[in-house]
Amino acid sequence: MELYEKMGHELHELIVKKEVSAREVTDSFLSRIDAVEDKVKSFLTLLPDSARAQADEVDALVARGEQLPPLAGLPIAIKDNICTEGVLTTCASKMLYNFVPPYDATVITRMKQSHMPILGKTNLDEFAMGSSCENSAFQKTRNPYDLNRVPGGSSGGSAAAVAAAQAPFAVGSDTGGSIRQPACITGIVGLKPSYGAVSRYGLVAFGSSLDQIGPMTRCVRDNAMLFDLLAGPDEMDSTSARISRKPIAPDLRVDVKGLRIGLPKEFFGEGIDPGVRACIMEAAQQYQRMGAQLVEVELPFAQYALPTYYIVSSAEASSNLARFDGVKYGYRSEHYDGLVDLYFKSRSEGFGPEVRRRIMLGTYVLASGYYDAYYKRAQLMRVKLKQIYDEAFERCDVLLTPASPTVAFRLGEKESDPLAMYLSDICTVSINMVELPALVLPCGTVEGLPMGMQLIGRKFSEELLYNVAYSFEQATGLGWTCPKL
Ligand code: GLN
Repeated sequence: MELYEKMGHELHELIVKKEVSAREVTDSFLSRIDAVEDKVKSFLTLLPDSARAQADEVDALVARGEQLPPLAGLPIAIKDNICTEGVLTTCASKMLYNFVPPYDATVITRMKQSHMPILGKTNLDEFAMGSSCENSAFQKTRNPYDLNRVPGGSSGGSAAAVAAAQAPFAVGSDTGGSIRQPACITGIVGLKPSYGAVSRYGLVAFGSSLDQIGPMTRCVRDNAMLFDLLAGPDEMDSTSARISRKPIAPDLRVDVKGLRIGLPKEFFGEGIDPGVRACIMEAAQQYQRMGAQLVEVELPFAQYALPTYYIVSSAEASSNLARFDGVKYGYRSEHYDGLVDLYFKSRSEGFGPEVRRRIMLGTYVLASGYYDAYYKRAQLMRVKLKQIYDEAFERCDVLLTPASPTVAFRLGEKESDPLAMYLSDICTVSINMVELPALVLPCGTVEGLPMGMQLIGRKFSEELLYNVAYSFEQATGLGWTCPKL
């Protein structure tokens, strides 16, 4: 077995016991990247030299007999909308084709403090808007299990990198499903943390009240380890939760006896592929065999979550993206006539079609004549959705749902139909609206392609979600398998 096929926690053991060096681990992933990147196209920027130097620092610590932090020497890939000091951060947009941030995002600072070698920056849908990675201005990432299919999005580059064993760890961002939907259709584990659990400082904002950075890995334990590192208060983010928690990964347990698992019927109805439904129901029955209790719950108004999400997220995006004006940094049109024309041309040429669509939609719903009809009603619906989820959690401890209505679709299949693309988020967007944590993990295959399920919990119940996921993974042995590339 190659080193790159081993899980992060196994590699860490090997490094601590001096059976392999951190440098060998990083080299193994770099050579895997060399071998398969032409096919998968996960990365926009590769950082082999600095990754090796970071690994060498870990080996120096080992040689001096120093205690290693939990993830020391374990390489990681970063979605390219997270700021990295001195390293290009493009958001897969022509608008930021040359943007080199002068600072690190808080999550990056934490990785560096833990001595995680950073392998590179991964592809995404432009400014994290999309569900297939096809909206990238630079390249299309492929699903490692079928190169004619999408890896999902927007964190498709991070998902593909982890699934293809180019990296044992990655981070993505999730505004409406961008960690979970790609994790689901590439057969890996992904967490959208509770809003406020992980600092957003240095994440290029899309919908500030929805965005969260989260871990993407090949198994539940690795995911919990990375979450333990990333989560926690940060004075640079006023929305970060001031709560302290103990690490989850060291105490993962198999225990679902008496756990009440809610199955919201709205998530199993129209629009969900029958094969996907059967796969998720089979997972539910597995939990039942392990001693959990299945309860049917209702989430009335769930059908309004998708339109509500597209109103709120586009409104916030139109405001957040106003800063890209061709003046301060990023793309500037070559020919313009005065300041207004400079704004107009730089933004028209710098942003791709989906980003422009969202800016127009967002500006429209915020305009004074339409504000009450759209934006205000969407905010009221958001409050309603929170109540509905609160009520559901009176009847159960976690919710179990699909995370994507279908298996990975073919490249080009939905590219020209934005509404069809938006429908691929139907299982994920409501969770961001209500600030809850949700974890996706593999639960089998459908039509020979990977499929995951979604576990949703009360706010800040990440520990429970990890234990419930770990129980399934241990009991069934289902999980990541190395794709043949
Ligand atoms: N696919 C959704 C969208 O396009 C979610 C994006 C995200 O979570 N960043 O808005």
